[in-house]
Amino acid sequence: MHLSFERVDLKLRHTFRISRGAEDVAQVVIAKLEHDGIHGFGEASPSSRYGETIDTVLSFLERVELGDFGDPFELEQTTAHLDDLALGDAAAKAAVDIALHDWVGRKLGLPLYKLWGLSKSKAPLTSFTIGIDSPDVITQKVAEAESYPILKVKLGTDHDKDIIAAVRRATKKRIRVDANEGWKTKELALERIKWLEQEGVEFVEQPMPASDLAGCTWLRERVNLPLIADENCVRLHDVPRLRDAFDGINIKLMKCGGLREAMRMIHTAKALGMKTMLGCMIESSIAITAAAHLSPLVDYADLDGNLLITNDPFEGVKVKEGKIVLSDEPGLGVIPRD
Ligand code: MG
Repeated sequence: MHLSFERVDLKLRHTFRISRGAEDVAQVVIAKLEHDGIHGFGEASPSSRYGETIDTVLSFLERVELGDFGDPFELEQTTAHLDDLALGDAAAKAAVDIALHDWVGRKLGLPLYKLWGLSKSKAPLTSFTIGIDSPDVITQKVAEAESYPILKVKLGTDHDKDIIAAVRRATKKRIRVDANEGWKTKELALERIKWLEQEGVEFVEQPMPASDLAGCTWLRERVNLPLIADENCVRLHDVPRLRDAFDGINIKLMKCGGLREAMRMIHTAKALGMKTMLGCMIESSIAITAAAHLSPLVDYADLDGNLLITNDPFEGVKVKEGKIVLSDEPGLGVIPRD
């Protein structure tokens, strides 16, 4: 097995702003795994929130030695090897995990969703994200998102009410809110969520800092909207301890290290009676398509990272009127654009 990789800069259509910062370019790494004349693609989109940068991804991938493994079918062993190399580095691990899965699907001639026994008709709608901006830009973004029936609105600012007012002037469609830990006290989070209960909101993602799990448990006892853990939910071992503080979890390949761990997290959350969601970072169609193959298993999807960029180097999963449409090409079914 031979792994190669290269850095790619994904350009954002609009500056992407959330409660903790803003970016115009997302630096990712595209990985390619070759074995037996077949190749599989993977991707890492590192997040500084979880201690990763483009350089940590590249240095992790330099250390990955796949020569000891017979072939890419040894997914459990190979991904265990990645965890032995380091505790974190989840995005870098995801690049390898996704490439291995793509290879297996291509080798067998089957799309991943079919290999996993899933029905593509069960793929959910994806939301489309509206980042933090001035009311005028938000109005423009809502117009650009016309074909998406669900919006995910980023809050956690001191002008949350202006943002929601701008969205609501433009549309009556379903909205989900993501505070990205931006409401720093439980009292502020309570006040904001009580207000959002009147604004046609479906759920609230990560209202408070991940460090205040007790505060979130307090909050959940006092609000009617479901609370979904994002920054609080990184890997499988996080899931059981979140059940009192949250109604569901947002799983991202770039937080958990790839498709195998994501699958375990989905089933664990279901066993605990929690809702499941698949989310993303700013990613190309490689990583978005990988997550999309799992999406028939989850309640909610927010797989729009590739829709927010202007230079996606790959073609993959399609979205029609918000609905995730999986292809029947083998593996991920992604194709380089050039
Ligand atoms: Mg989030």
